[in-house]
Amino acid sequence: MTKEIATPSRTREIMDQHHLSFKKSLGQNFMLDGNILNKMVDATEVTAEDGVIEVGAGIGALTEKFAKRAKKVVAFEIDQRLLPVLTDTLAPYDNIDIRHQDILKADLRELCETTLKDTRHIVAAGNLPYYVTTPILMAFLEQKLPIESLTVMIQKEVSERLAAVPGTKSYGSLSIAAQYYAEAEEIMTVSATVFMPRPNVDSTIIRFRLRNQPAVHVDDERLFFDVIRASFAQRRKTLANNLRHWLGKKGAHTDLHEAFHLADIDGKRRAETLTLAEFAGLTDALSKKGF
Ligand code: SAM
Repeated sequence: MTKEIATPSRTREIMDQHHLSFKKSLGQNFMLDGNILNKMVDATEVTAEDGVIEVGAGIGALTEKFAKRAKKVVAFEIDQRLLPVLTDTLAPYDNIDIRHQDILKADLRELCETTLKDTRHIVAAGNLPYYVTTPILMAFLEQKLPIESLTVMIQKEVSERLAAVPGTKSYGSLSIAAQYYAEAEEIMTVSATVFMPRPNVDSTIIRFRLRNQPAVHVDDERLFFDVIRASFAQRRKTLANNLRHWLGKKGAHTDLHEAFHLADIDGKRRAETLTLAEFAGLTDALSKKGF
């Protein structure tokens, strides 16, 4: 049996064989620890009846782990140079479909409804390229895709923001967006030393279980996110100050005082203390007061 891809010697050997260098601009930090990748696959709870969408196959370290456990794996890789490598390293598996495409341009819904149609559950996963972490996360969370979960390896600091609760320094619009669509759970911290090349910061494996319904009900989802962004515009300012500034810029004559009263929220609070439900209440109150 061939040695697993996720080891320092095999990774170096594969890169040398194909005369390849790591492209920093594409976030190429390859994983060298097979045990950690196994734990990541465990966290997805994938079974032999399930399908996997993988973001950023690299040289196939995580892809081969999924291929051993899932029914079908569709793995996206943007770097053309890695395609012959993947054909080579993943040759022992017949359940992998490699797509040379930017994940942000992929029609994920169509993929779920065609290629992965005959699977029981679909999970998404990836050791994400740093430069594009948030857009990739939001693409999977916002589209209300028929997937069970998204399990990703990302920078520790970003993971902390995604999983943060109200009243903490890391809590912000990213936490709210993620928790609106999913239940976030940090699985484990991963040291920077187990990547080649070694990044400057540690990573975290975080799992999002997608909700069937968003965490709170709002009449106008777009307004909800606009209100949140405006509320956090200047973190040290009060909610009232941030929202007054935003409404002024929009030329809106909404009665902010009345809206706070209706939502039962003190305008002197800071955005970082509000729960999702409170932001939902405030959004609906602003709509009712003429915004
Ligand atoms: N899965 C491999 C591993 O764990 O070793 C590689 C992970 S590496 C952090 C991220 C991979 O994503 C790179 O191979 C990079 O070329 C690829 N990538 C970067 N941007 C991408 C995009 N927009 N769509 C698809 N793949 C992308």
